[in-house]
Amino acid sequence: MKRRLKVILTIFGFAFLASCGGGEGEKTGLTAPSGETGTTLSPRQEKFESEEGYPLTAVIWPEREIAVCWQMDVDAFNSYSAQRESVRQAIHSTWEQSSLVRFIGWQRCNGTPNQGVSIAVQDVGAHTKGLGTRLRNVVEGVVLNFEYTQWSPDCQNQKDYCNRVLAVHEFGHVLGFAHEQNRPDTPDPRCAAQEQGTDGDALFGDWDISSVMNYCNPQWNGDGALSPTDIAMVKKYYGDPAGIAFIDITPSIYLLTN
Ligand SMILES: [Zn+2]
Repeated sequence: MKRRLKVILTIFGFAFLASCGGGEGEKTGLTAPSGETGTTLSPRQEKFESEEGYPLTAVIWPEREIAVCWQMDVDAFNSYSAQRESVRQAIHSTWEQSSLVRFIGWQRCNGTPNQGVSIAVQDVGAHTKGLGTRLRNVVEGVVLNFEYTQWSPDCQNQKDYCNRVLAVHEFGHVLGFAHEQNRPDTPDPRCAAQEQGTDGDALFGDWDISSVMNYCNPQWNGDGALSPTDIAMVKKYYGDPAGIAFIDITPSIYLLTN
């Protein structure tokens, strides 16, 4: 009984930590990890949509170079130099390393639409305000957290780890990937109950508990390491750096009718 309770709490804990990703914010009531603090997110924190492992093919970027800028003042931009670089490296060693997509720029936003994405840093749950190209020119379309005083205080003693893990997940949303647990074939109802944000419109491979986009992954966002299916998916939609044509090893890729 205790063990079962622990499993449930763990699942909900991951749900809290992973709260991110998507946009219009349909989901409410996420609570703090492990039931330790019982913190309830504010309405603003709850107002996130999310997505993953589960591509929304309609919002895949047609370009392979996606502009990125930081929406912050000069002082914050300078003081967050190390954090910004850590995020950039995390994205490079994951999504970029596994595909032909490149995030370019990374300068401070100058008020002119960059045709790509804008990142803000706020002490709220990391999230995106949509998936894929729906983030184009959306000011503060991606929100990361470098402080963790208000949200996910467990990250206080592991800020760099949290910065990287969250960035990898949120950039999955930037690439158009929805939350894996939103898939209709999510096997565990307790996991499926954590559906959040926009759904994909195609299923890629088998349901993947190891995806960085899966709240039910026993490793929080996969510790920021792409699963084999994450890698295969980004190669399919953004090109394979090895130049080898993608071979579909999955039994089914099919469009959903809703
Ligand atoms: Zn998310």
